[in-house]
Amino acid sequence: MASARPLRRDIAVEHPLFRLFKDLPGDYLAEEFLAHIRTTGAPESFPGIHPGPLAKTEPFRKLAAFSIDRIKRPDADMAYCPMCHQPNKYLEGAFVYLTDLRAVAAIGHECAAMENRAAADKDYRARRDQRAEEDYLLANLPHVSRKMDAIRAVRPAAAEALRVFRLLRKDAPDAVRQLRAIKQKGARLTVAETIDAKLAEIGPSGFKGSSGKQTRDAVFGVLAGTTAVINDYNPMAELNRIETVLKVFPECGSEDDALEAICQMTDAERKWAATRLRQTDSDFRKFQARMADFCAFFTAENIARIDAWTQHPEHPSRCRIKRAEQRGSVILSISSYEDRFRAVIAPDIESYRAEEWPFADT
Ligand SMILES: [Zn+2]
Repeated sequence: MASARPLRRDIAVEHPLFRLFKDLPGDYLAEEFLAHIRTTGAPESFPGIHPGPLAKTEPFRKLAAFSIDRIKRPDADMAYCPMCHQPNKYLEGAFVYLTDLRAVAAIGHECAAMENRAAADKDYRARRDQRAEEDYLLANLPHVSRKMDAIRAVRPAAAEALRVFRLLRKDAPDAVRQLRAIKQKGARLTVAETIDAKLAEIGPSGFKGSSGKQTRDAVFGVLAGTTAVINDYNPMAELNRIETVLKVFPECGSEDDALEAICQMTDAERKWAATRLRQTDSDFRKFQARMADFCAFFTAENIARIDAWTQHPEHPSRCRIKRAEQRGSVILSISSYEDRFRAVIAPDIESYRAEEWPFADT
């Protein structure tokens, strides 16, 4: 034997026959190929591969992208590209299915006519997206009925939040308006406080207020739960929107049911289904986050902060806000010249937390 390392042209001769694939081969082949590349660095020696030469315009579909570790190659050279007929040509390549020749080949990344490559890349991405959609739906369609259960379970919490939100707007419009202005200024509860004229003389000039009076901000902390004072908040509508999407999906008790449902979908339907079902996952998380923020308004600490703020002698429109607890319920009252608010907030409002959203990440 002259050499343990065959010359490049010998490699082509080693595979006078290439394997025929009637249809686009499954993922298993791309996986075998990538494993072969990881071990040998030699696409030329993958069993059954088309040895070339190939026409530049030969149509193909991309099965996988790969890169070669040069050190693993017999001569530490680059791979032969059957499409540009050159040895020592590439390290970044694509494993492709030649649709007319019904064979697989490995070609250099830069190879093939430009329009061919763009079409193959687009097709490759579409199939990769399709796979991701199928995987997601397969894992998540069987959870749809439990997602519906989760929606039902948190409805009482959402209904109570909506009732209290609307009552605040109706019976405490002045407090809501003031607190909304605070939210818009960064949620810091402050009152402009006049300071002693003698003290101001020795203080820094920055103490001078815009009215000519010397003031400084008395600070009462940060307002929590600003969702309670926004213009529009409707947790029931949020749940309804999620449920409307979930109702569209077929009952799938098992992965087999899901598989059957997925197979009956057109490309557009499958894309829509995966996108919208994913959306329900993030929408439910947003619902819970908003509920948590709404409830944060009614904590003892937050109400005490607001009360201290509004009780400051120089607060421009003072009111009283009080909180008590009775048998698990929070009783909140707000009274001022304009406001007469009283609500008993049922403990149900906290039950939005208890519900686990069934979700399978893929
Ligand atoms: Zn090439």
